[in-house]
Amino acid sequence: MKIHSLIKLLRLLALTAFPVIAQETEQTPVLIHAERVFDGKTIRTNTSVLVIGGIIAQIDSPEAFKSIKAKVIDLGDATLLPGFIELHAHLGFHHIPADTVLKHGITTIRDVGGPLHQPYGGDGSLRVLTSGPIITAPGGYPIPALGTENIAIAVATEQQARETVRSLIDGGAVMIKVALEPGGEAGAPWTEGHHHAGAKHHKAHPSKKTWPLLPENIVKAIVDEAHKQGRKVTAHLGEAQGAKIALDAGVDEWAHLPCAVIPDALLKKAVQQRVTTITTLDTLSKCPGIVHNAQSLAALGGNLLYGAEIAHPDIPWGIDAQELIAMMHTTDMQPLEVLRSATSKSGRYLNSPLLGTLQPGAPADLIAVKGDPTHDLKILEYPDLVMSGGHCILNNFERSACMP
Ligand SMILES: [Zn+2]
Repeated sequence: MKIHSLIKLLRLLALTAFPVIAQETEQTPVLIHAERVFDGKTIRTNTSVLVIGGIIAQIDSPEAFKSIKAKVIDLGDATLLPGFIELHAHLGFHHIPADTVLKHGITTIRDVGGPLHQPYGGDGSLRVLTSGPIITAPGGYPIPALGTENIAIAVATEQQARETVRSLIDGGAVMIKVALEPGGEAGAPWTEGHHHAGAKHHKAHPSKKTWPLLPENIVKAIVDEAHKQGRKVTAHLGEAQGAKIALDAGVDEWAHLPCAVIPDALLKKAVQQRVTTITTLDTLSKCPGIVHNAQSLAALGGNLLYGAEIAHPDIPWGIDAQELIAMMHTTDMQPLEVLRSATSKSGRYLNSPLLGTLQPGAPADLIAVKGDPTHDLKILEYPDLVMSGGHCILNNFERSACMP
């Protein structure tokens, strides 16, 4: 195929799959060599990546590109990876600077709880998807801790629930979040945490459960309305009562590993119902149940995806290596499996199967680190190269590699 027809085809692909990133992109083909390439699934050597028009055009052995006229970037003893996907963040609500997050290796973020907006970014800026505010019971979590503005919507009837879901989706919600949190779990940041000022009074009575929960019929209405429009529903939950309502109502995802120990029967049911769990192990490191819940879900074959909860005070504004390490230690996942959970598996989960991969047609969201991150996950927190939609965001290699 001639190079200009290849560019045309790629732009068409980009416009269909990633409308945001295809507007103004660099047309000069860029060929990147690195000692190791993690393509979202596996580590490849003797592999180069061709970027055209903000999109991955081809990934192949260096010899395959001999006749291609391109600007060449040779990163040497480095590892090239897809930009990471953070599935649990509160960027908008806590005003975390998007550029800082992008420079630290996250190229796509999902805000679950915060101001509602249409998806944006990906063209040299952080790609941001959101659920908008969290649907909850009147007076339910997170209202006692954080109020309602931009963070919570209370519903009291099935009709209100359905209307709320429709208006959130109209406003750009890529998914819907509900809260099923009675409060009181020991070690939970929402019960005893320093940034949840309103939750302080629960410290004296950690076992006292006071926050009202959405009943099953209302959660069912939310799930039904969301599914009608192709949206998944995630639930904030921390203990068995919330988990039971979420499971009985058909919720698709747990936004955290539950803080309290969850009975095995419920964990089994979650896996049977193909519930996905976002890990947030680092944020919940003081919770007594997370190791048991993570181990059991993993052993049962459950789907655990990376999310660190950016905006939580313990979490860096970028890739959180501690989260990746905790995933390995609690579940026996291998380094490649945790890398997949933060890249290709998350892209597929977001219905964008090219996102989080390096394969033809994928957005050129790339990071590179000097060395081999499968031997040292910590280096991922400080990438040496970041590209978003083919635009160079950060470069610690030779100046000629690319100009931020
Ligand atoms: Zn959260």
